[in-house]
Amino acid sequence: MICAKQVFRCFKWIERAGDRLTGAAGPVFVALAVVLLSVGAACFFEVILPSLRWPWLTAPLCLLVVLNLFTHYYYVCTVLPGFVTDPPPHHGSGWLWAQPRTPMRGRQMTGVRWSEELNLTKASITRCKRCGEMRPERAHHCRICKRCVLKYDHHCPPLFATGINQCVGLHNERHFVLFLIYLTISTLCYSVLGWEHAWRALGWYNDSWNHYSPEVAFLLEYLLSVVIFFAVTVMGGFHLWGIANAETSVENQDNEHYRKVARSRGEVFINSYDLGKRKNLELYFNVGPNGYPLYTLIIPLRLEPYTDGRSWARRPGLERHPGVMHGEELTDDDEE
Ligand SMILES: [Zn+2]
Ligand SMILES: [Zn+2]
Repeated sequence: MICAKQVFRCFKWIERAGDRLTGAAGPVFVALAVVLLSVGAACFFEVILPSLRWPWLTAPLCLLVVLNLFTHYYYVCTVLPGFVTDPPPHHGSGWLWAQPRTPMRGRQMTGVRWSEELNLTKASITRCKRCGEMRPERAHHCRICKRCVLKYDHHCPPLFATGINQCVGLHNERHFVLFLIYLTISTLCYSVLGWEHAWRALGWYNDSWNHYSPEVAFLLEYLLSVVIFFAVTVMGGFHLWGIANAETSVENQDNEHYRKVARSRGEVFINSYDLGKRKNLELYFNVGPNGYPLYTLIIPLRLEPYTDGRSWARRPGLERHPGVMHGEELTDDDEE
């Protein structure tokens, strides 16, 4: 009789083989995504944009969206997620970096860039059983990168148009979510503003197709836009909801488990990182009174996260999550 455990192991093996395969083919998928995004942008600017009203307004807006789309995609693929063995990064110089609103006080002390009004606690440290590195809480081991990643969210496989072929963690998570947001806006614009052109490309009207972009390219991009719009809206919505609740994708699952365990004891689990939706979003994008100016959400500049990943802002008076006892914390082994 085949034991359920063996079947489970077999599935895990297939999943890992798949991960390795897509990992090896990663650069090809990323190149494909760049080609699809570029052809889409070219079709939009050549076919759709000239037919829009108020070109003095729509043209700069569309350019801004496309600039954000490509730049955040570039950043999310090239900015490393932050491995626990890396030295703490420093604020970069140059015109690509945004300037914070206030000088970073207390930076050397806590690694946190925000003001003293937050309740900051040093992260607890554990040793990873896989790579043997000491790592702060919220870091997890990525079995594809084979390293521990600060504030690990997920390893993004190189699939379809959103594949980035690396981990999403502390240092590139902001670019990942902004990329999803700008991809949603772009595909929505293409789908809504391009439908008449799509019918024309299909030959439904009697007039001719007088554009440089081939009809087949326009139609292919149109179909992709509609599909990607729905997929990315769901994905982006899931991530934004998690951010508003101060949970990474991993913590979203873990906290569900903690809630059940706490409830079975008659206790209530509280996510101590949750400072309220507005503050959680401010901290994630690092904008607001003590972070960077709001324009960094529409101008694609680099900026540092509010923390170095070794200290975390928590609800006043809390140093850990109430409802979870010592030794009950889930580890990466439990997720296997
Ligand atoms: Zn590890
Ligand atoms: Zn990874």
